[in-house]
Amino acid sequence: MIPRIDLHTHSTASDGTLTPPQLIRTAAEAGLDVVALTDHDTTAGWEPAVRALPTGLRLVRGAELSCRWSGVTPSLPLHLLAYLFDPQAPELVAELARVRAARLERGERIVALLRSDGIDVSWPEILAGAGGGTVGRPHIAQALIRAGLVATTSEAFGPDWLGQRYRLPKEDIDVFRAVELVRAAGGVPVFAHPRATRRGRIVPDELIAELAAAGLVGVEADHEDHSPAEREHVRGLAADLGLLVTGSSDFHGTHKTVRLGAFTTAPEVYEQLVAASSGVIEVVSG
Ligand code: AMP
Ligand code: ZN
Ligand code: FE
Ligand code: FE
Repeated sequence: MIPRIDLHTHSTASDGTLTPPQLIRTAAEAGLDVVALTDHDTTAGWEPAVRALPTGLRLVRGAELSCRWSGVTPSLPLHLLAYLFDPQAPELVAELARVRAARLERGERIVALLRSDGIDVSWPEILAGAGGGTVGRPHIAQALIRAGLVATTSEAFGPDWLGQRYRLPKEDIDVFRAVELVRAAGGVPVFAHPRATRRGRIVPDELIAELAAAGLVGVEADHEDHSPAEREHVRGLAADLGLLVTGSSDFHGTHKTVRLGAFTTAPEVYEQLVAASSGVIEVVSG
């Protein structure tokens, strides 16, 4: 049987709804052989996930870094998956802490904006809902659902709400610095959902070419936010640039409808991805 490998998931350490141990159990139940935990801007879920690993499941420790490209005005936010990096590399640790703080500050400003329009959402309640995990718009979306203003998280990401009207930028990590820091920490950077046009503006292929020259290792092609044509485009680009091509669910528990293992990465790509890391942080087997 071909191993099933899902390289992008979120737990309650950021904006997923399953705790790291629940996520690991669900991954085993879903028949995955390899799962990566890639919470936004944090490695806080790594230890509890490792402790919960059952026999037969392998865990790739990672994170999804909030990045920004300033080659256009206004600058573009983007997500960089980082795998198997040293979670104590000082500069990377500092950047992650800074981004988490910026997320708190931006979340509070979004709530102030909502409240100034008479929308009754509470920042302390939203913070409590995040339970100490990296705060994101999905947590604010839950407050809009509780207030009866929208029915679903995806509705909360519509243009009238967090997708546009109440969307504020945050202080992200410069993407070239992020690639450099991840590589310096022994890790493997992979560009997450690069053609997800439905989330907003996307970066040009030229940027991905520049990032490839700067140390990017892969691009995520198979993702629910990519149309079949967008997936093909990413594959073609990866072939031209010599990048690995991954596929993954970007599972967020009930904050999204996608299921674990909905998209997967080929075993030979996974092997190359692991081989591209320095080996400081290894894949853990249960
Ligand atoms: P933030 O990190 O605060 O900017 O919020 C972005 C997060 O919200 C990402 O992790 C996405 O997975 C999630 N997200 C973006 N668009 C949607 C959507 N339409 N429905 C549900 N979740 C979304
Ligand atoms: Zn998320
Ligand atoms: Fe993402
Ligand atoms: Fe994600």
